[in-house]
Amino acid sequence: MNKKMAVIGAGTMGNGIAHVFAQKGYLVHLVDISQDALETGIRTIEKNLDRMLKKGIIDQEAVTGTLERISRHTQIEDGVRDCMLVVEAATENPEIKARLFRDMDRYTNPDTILATNTSSISITRIASETRKPDKVIGMHFMNPVPVMKLVEVIRGYATSDETCDHIMAISRALDKQPVEVNDYPGFVANRILMPMINEAVETLHEGVAGVEEIDQVMKLGMAHPMGPLHLADFIGLDVCLAILRVMYEGFGRSKYAPNPLLVNMVTAGKLGVKTGEGFYVYDPVTRDKTVSRHFL
Ligand code: NAD
Repeated sequence: MNKKMAVIGAGTMGNGIAHVFAQKGYLVHLVDISQDALETGIRTIEKNLDRMLKKGIIDQEAVTGTLERISRHTQIEDGVRDCMLVVEAATENPEIKARLFRDMDRYTNPDTILATNTSSISITRIASETRKPDKVIGMHFMNPVPVMKLVEVIRGYATSDETCDHIMAISRALDKQPVEVNDYPGFVANRILMPMINEAVETLHEGVAGVEEIDQVMKLGMAHPMGPLHLADFIGLDVCLAILRVMYEGFGRSKYAPNPLLVNMVTAGKLGVKTGEGFYVYDPVTRDKTVSRHFL
């Protein structure tokens, strides 16, 4: 079987996706328009493999083999050629994804499956940019990819059974647990998660409790490993806002309207862990949270 695949985007998700495919023996073409992003992505993979080696999860041969199977590309036409699968994990922007899928369609073989890791953009809409919408599917990995088991497999309106079966099988071969869902705004994961995060922001905004108190209630009372405000910082407040807007627009229901405090924080550039400040302040080196900001 041809085990050549490509990952588009070497950022937070893309390098994790490249890591898990390469570790399972795939030849991975990692593609990014930014040479810096490619270098940073590879360094992150090296760091994560090293951590797995130290914990005894993998041996040195697996580390070396995984890294050897990943090649870097800045031109999409070189990166996707002759691949049996392309997983797109570029910036969450409908215009960028539309252009990428037109190019992926143009430079791949007719039977190549084109998957997207989008958190919120309609698979049906992305598929309509190509001449093979039956071969387009959502393959939504969770962050951090090497650790999290779930792959939300999203069928677009025209996705074929064959494409879906193939992606379910590939996900299992990666030691992940795929769950099949249909293409409606937020899919399943974010449709349930984002209203909870938005409600936590609303609870803070109304002065019902402080940041740490809200997170503690959900951790101690609901056995969540992370409170919703800390999780929002981890995902990125800009990403949370973008997903809420897609759901608000897609369903036209007020319950998905983003809280104004969330909008203000994103406008002010307080995006969470990636900018060093969101609901908490983060150490620039360790990225551990230090203190919560005082909103009350
Ligand atoms: P990111 O900003 O960390 O990385 C995006 C990368 O895409 C950047 O390196 C950028 O240079 C590259 N890029 C942009 N345009 C490109 C192009 N035309 N060709 C090639 N590369 C291009 O973003 P991320 O957090 O990794 O998110 C990627 C995708 O995964 C998004 O669709 C996002 O919604 C989704 N997602 C993110 C998370 C998360 O927790 N961050 C979780 C699940 C899904």
